[in-house]
Amino acid sequence: MSVFVVNCGSSSLKWSVIDVASGSTLGSGTVQKVVDHAAALADVLSVAPLDDVVAVAHRVVHGGERFSAPVLINDAVVAAIRDLSVLAPLHNPANADGIEIALKALPGVPHVAIFDTAFHTTLPPRAYTYAVPRAWNVRRYGFHGTSHAYVSREAARVLGRPVADVNVIVLHLGNGASASAVAGGRSIDTSMGLTPLEGLVMGTRSGDVDPALVLHLRRTHNLSTDEIDAVLNSRSGLLALAGDNDMREVQRRVQAGDRAAELALDVYCYRIRKYVGAYLAALGGADAIAFTAGVGENDPVVRARSLAGLQRLGIEIDAARNEAGETVISPDRSPVAVLVIPTNEELEMATQAAAVIAR
Ligand code: ADP
Repeated sequence: MSVFVVNCGSSSLKWSVIDVASGSTLGSGTVQKVVDHAAALADVLSVAPLDDVVAVAHRVVHGGERFSAPVLINDAVVAAIRDLSVLAPLHNPANADGIEIALKALPGVPHVAIFDTAFHTTLPPRAYTYAVPRAWNVRRYGFHGTSHAYVSREAARVLGRPVADVNVIVLHLGNGASASAVAGGRSIDTSMGLTPLEGLVMGTRSGDVDPALVLHLRRTHNLSTDEIDAVLNSRSGLLALAGDNDMREVQRRVQAGDRAAELALDVYCYRIRKYVGAYLAALGGADAIAFTAGVGENDPVVRARSLAGLQRLGIEIDAARNEAGETVISPDRSPVAVLVIPTNEELEMATQAAAVIAR
C-alpha cells in the first residue's frame, strides 16, 4: 500500500511514492523550472512506480481557518483552496492547479489535501491574535506544520516518552525557517504568522521586522506594494545580508573572513536564540529542542551558536556529538535534550493521507 505524494509549487514539482507500512521511498524526484504543470506531471506519471498507489497526497500551503486537518478532495475543496490564494498568492494557486491536473490524470484513486497550516490550528487565541482592529479579520496561522508535527513526535520517541507528556521546541531551518512550541503534541505557538514571512531569518525572507518598515519604504523609497513584497520575501534574509541564500555558501564566506557573512550568521543565530527563549517561557520549560531541515540537520555551527550561553536555562551542546551530527547532541543528563531529527514531510503526508482514506 503506497501513497503518491505531490508538492506542486509555482516553479517546481516535487514528488515521491511512499510505502506507508515500512516508511520507505519507492521513488522520488523534482522537476525544476516548471512552466507547464500538466506536461511536468505527465512526465512524472510515466516514471513514477504507481502500481500499488492507494491515494494521492497533495501539499497545500494555506488552509486558512477552514481546514484544520487533511481532507478528501472534491470540487468544493479545490474552490476553497483557490479562495485562500489571497493569503498565499505564490503557493495556493499552484497547489490548486496541481490538484486539478492530478485529478484528471489519476481519477481512479482518492486525492487528499494536506495543509501546512493544519498542525497549528491548536494555537490558543493569545498566540494567534494580532493586536489590530477585529474588522480586518487577520490572524496568525503558522506553516511547515507537517514537519513540526513529524519532528515533535519523533522527539518524544527519541526521549522514550509518550507524546502527551513532553514539551518540544522544534527549529525547522531550511530555505524557509520556522520555530514552534509543542506542548503534549499540540502546537501552542509558532514563528510564522498570517504569511510565511514572520519570524526567523530565512534564506531570502527577512522574518520579523517593524511593520512600520513597509510604510517607511513606501514613503521614502516610493516602492509599490508588489515591490516591497518581492524584496521582503525574495531578496532579504541571508541573501540580503551575506550575498547568498545558501547557508553552506554563507559558512564558506565566514571561513574566508567575510564580515558581512559573519554578521548574517550572527543575526540568523541570535534570532533563533530569542525564539528559543520565548518558547521556553510559553511552554513553562521544554524537555527537548529539535533541529531539523537542511540547515538544522547539517550545520553544527548554526546549532552551537543558536544555543550558546543558555547553560543557566539547562541547555547545553556536546561539541563532539554536535560535530558528528548524532541524534542527541546535548550531554547526558542535560535537563533539556538537544536533538537533530531529519524531517520527513513526505512520510508524514503519506501517513496522514492513508489515515484519511481508512476512515
Ligand atoms: P527547503 O526549505 O527548500 O525544503 P531544505 O530543508 O532542504 O529546503 O533546506 C535547504 C537549505 O539547507 C539550503 O538552502 C542550504 O542553505 C541548507 N543546507 C543544506 N545542506 C547544508 C549543510 N551541509 N550545511 C549548511 N546548510 C545546509
